[in-house]
This record gives sequence, C-alpha cells and structure tokens, in this order.
Amino acid sequence: MFLYVSHPMCKKHDNGWGHPENAERYSRVEDALVSARLLDYVLTKEARQANDEDILRVHTPHFLKTLKAAIPQQGLITLDEDTALSPDSLDAARYGSGAVLDAIDSIMAGQAQRAFCNIRPPGHHAEVQKPMGFCLLNHVAIGAAYALEHYGLERVAIVDIDVHHGNGTESYARVEPRVTLISNFESGIYPFTDPHSDLPNQLKLPMPAHTSGAQWLEAWNHLGWPFLQAARPQLIIVSAGFDGHQMDPLAHWNLHERDYQAWTEQLIRQANQLCQGRIVSVLEGGYDLTALGLSVVAHVKALAEL
Ligand SMILES: [Zn+2]
Repeated sequence: MFLYVSHPMCKKHDNGWGHPENAERYSRVEDALVSARLLDYVLTKEARQANDEDILRVHTPHFLKTLKAAIPQQGLITLDEDTALSPDSLDAARYGSGAVLDAIDSIMAGQAQRAFCNIRPPGHHAEVQKPMGFCLLNHVAIGAAYALEHYGLERVAIVDIDVHHGNGTESYARVEPRVTLISNFESGIYPFTDPHSDLPNQLKLPMPAHTSGAQWLEAWNHLGWPFLQAARPQLIIVSAGFDGHQMDPLAHWNLHERDYQAWTEQLIRQANQLCQGRIVSVLEGGYDLTALGLSVVAHVKALAEL
C-alpha cells in the first residue's frame, strides 16, 4: 500500500558545476532506498510528465510562456543567482510534478495509501508568478490543484518540513483558500520570510538556528498538528525537505534522521484520523548527500511501515 514514484529524467536538470542542487541527489536517494531494501516490497512507478493544463492550474500563462522561452538549446542560462536552466530543465520539472499527480491518482484509486516522490528540481520556492530558489515548478501546489479539480476534494493540506520557508506554496495558498499550508523554517535565512502570516489558511513555524529535534517535534505537537486538525484535510501533501539535518551545509538546525522518522510516525497518526491515511510526500531540499540518504530512508521506512 506504499508507492515510490520517480523518473530518471529528473537527473537531467543541471544548475552548473558545484551547485548543491545536483543530479547526484536523485541518485543518492534512490541508492539509499535500494540499499536499505525499502523498495523490495512496495509499489514503484515511473512518473508521467505534467502537461501545460496541470501547470496552469497553479502558475500563470505568462510564467509558463516565459519559462519555455528561456530554456536554452545548449549550455546553461541563469534565472537568478541560485537557479539555472539547462536544455532539459523544464522536462525534468514536468516529471517532478507528474510524479505527484501519479501518486495522487494511485491514492485516490485506493491502490496505495501513502507515496513518496523522488524528484528534482525541488518546487516549494516557485511562486505562482515566478520560478526562484532552485525551483522551477511548484510540484506540491500543482498536486493540490489537481486533487481539488480532478477529484473534487474540498480541503487539501500541505505540510512543509524543509528548513526554508515555502514561499512559493504560500503564494498559491494566498489565491486558493481550500489549501492549508503549515511551513516550518529557520528564521533569518533564505527566502527571508516575515515570521508572521497574514493568511488564515497558513501557519508559519519559524525556529532559530541550532533548533534541536526535540524542539522541532515540540513545535509540531503544540502548534502544527492542532492547526492541521482544524483544517480537516482530505489529503495531506508533504514538502519533504531534509536540509534541517545537522550535517546540511545550507542551514543551521540540528535535526537527525531519527527526528524525521519520529515526525513521520506522528504525521501518519494524524492522517489516519483525518483523511484515511492519505499522504503524498514530495522531495524538496537536502544538500548533504549522506544526510539526505539517511533522512529519506528514515522517512520512507516510517511511511511504508517497514
Ligand atoms: Zn530548503
């Protein structure tokens, strides 16, 4: 009842030499799951590509037109100081969003109860109107929009555990009140979000540098889970970033893989009570390759109950 969705085309997006968001991340996640024997007894699927209609449920026509026009024939172009485009970048991102759509289809058809999407580039910084911060398409938002329209759901929650605030997903929650966003993040780092939320359907959980696993889990227990319960979601989508890990080079939290496992076990309890256990988890950040592999294994082990 657990589904793993991925596509090797996700390796084809290239940010340039030495960039922390690179194809090795995809490979290391898959290798870690295979080595831990976690893919032996679960459903696996090669993702489809999201089409223009899927993308336009979230992003503006101008966004898509500009992104298509910017894709280079060869070499790289930079969109901002963090984000580049290579010839296959849009295709790679389409497989990323498509993985989320496939996971939602399987869950809504009752073939799986939970799913993990190993994809890149990540998506939660991509705003409705502009790509940014390593992100081109906002996969979790595209998934939520599809679930609302295609399956007629009325309430979808996105829970974002990446160490950076999901500003792109916030830009979607701003125009889609049927989506509830709960996003934890390290205060004072990219994308330098205001710690206060002006949206009734968003909970921000800012936490300082050196936040420990116990403090992080406490914040979810006291604030995150009650907010989720009040939202009464019919489906939960996770922006699963693992850059809060102690070893991560881009942030300063002190989480360990066991904390991701504990959090995932709590999430499953919430989902079982709220939405028949339906969880779609989507890879976002995580830039120390060893920590990323360990964290995804801990997360998937809990999700698949293996
Ligand atoms: Zn991040």
